[in-house]
Amino acid sequence: MLVVDAHLDLSMNALEWNRDLRQPAAAIRAREAGLTDKPDRGRGTVAFPDLRRGGVGLVVATQIGRYVAPGNPLPGWHSPEQAWAQTQGQLAWYREMERAGELAPIATRAELDAHLLAWQQPTPTAPIGYIRSLEGADSLVSVDYLQTAVRDGLRAVGPAHYGPGRYSPGTDASGPLEPQGPALLREMERLGVILDVTHLSDDAFTQALDLFGGAVWASHHNARALVPHQRQLTDVQIRHLVDRGAVIGASCDAWMIVPDWVRGQSTPAEAGCTLDRLADHVLHICGLAGSTRHVCIGSDMDGAFGTEQCPTELQTIGDLPRLGEVLARRGFSDEDVERFAWRNVVEFLRAHWADREWVT
Ligand SMILES: [Zn+2]
Repeated sequence: MLVVDAHLDLSMNALEWNRDLRQPAAAIRAREAGLTDKPDRGRGTVAFPDLRRGGVGLVVATQIGRYVAPGNPLPGWHSPEQAWAQTQGQLAWYREMERAGELAPIATRAELDAHLLAWQQPTPTAPIGYIRSLEGADSLVSVDYLQTAVRDGLRAVGPAHYGPGRYSPGTDASGPLEPQGPALLREMERLGVILDVTHLSDDAFTQALDLFGGAVWASHHNARALVPHQRQLTDVQIRHLVDRGAVIGASCDAWMIVPDWVRGQSTPAEAGCTLDRLADHVLHICGLAGSTRHVCIGSDMDGAFGTEQCPTELQTIGDLPRLGEVLARRGFSDEDVERFAWRNVVEFLRAHWADREWVT
């Protein structure tokens, strides 16, 4: 069965982690033996051969570049212009992967439909479809940069990431949108860009849903009722998203799946971080929604963590279909599993992209 993953930081891994994603995950790990510059060295899970093995034929793939003001301890660039240039380097890598036949850009409904047809019986080397999203909008030097990005195929924006942001505060920060936030949302709506609410502060989440009239999703987001943290969705937020027709992607980062995770100390096995615990989040959202129409996968695998912080059953992203098996055991019908695995995201995109004219 086709699997859609609504959130992967592919270009970040290629360019900041120096991972050649054309190699299998096992080969990338072997090449990283002895490296200690990142916490997840030698434990990566995402590579094109592994995606294909798991039937993950369509992904939402990010560009990402943070601006940090003096005193902000998070990693990031010292000017928005540098952050923009970083994202343009990432775009260049995506283009190279298109030329190499590894990735296929999906930015229109016609491209989506053709890709789905091709993946009904994919060849062993079939290009993986990717929809480009910007995680954190700091790199948009000004709001009018968005039009350039959309012309280049950008289709979703999450205004915030971690900490303070130029358009919105993000995870671990608080407060409303920054002064340029509303203008960014207006331009996103005008251009048909999907609003990704993931990482918005609570105040900004409420404000953004009020101001923004376009399509909304939460690409990689679990439930606060099960694991309390501001990074997670409250039940009220989930209901708002359901009312807006959103899809909510189940994230495979252990600290968002089981409570009391201590980064660098807890292990998935000791913490009982299994796919059943992730399924708890999916079922919680379905319970609030009253249907299986708003859930999907937004694994975020290799989003600066590897197997040391993944559910125990996931050795690489090729194991992702096992989550569907767990949901089937927990009561999902075949149709429910199909909805979760790919159909909800595809229907969301087909509805939103119908009859849309894109800036060229
Ligand atoms: Zn994220």
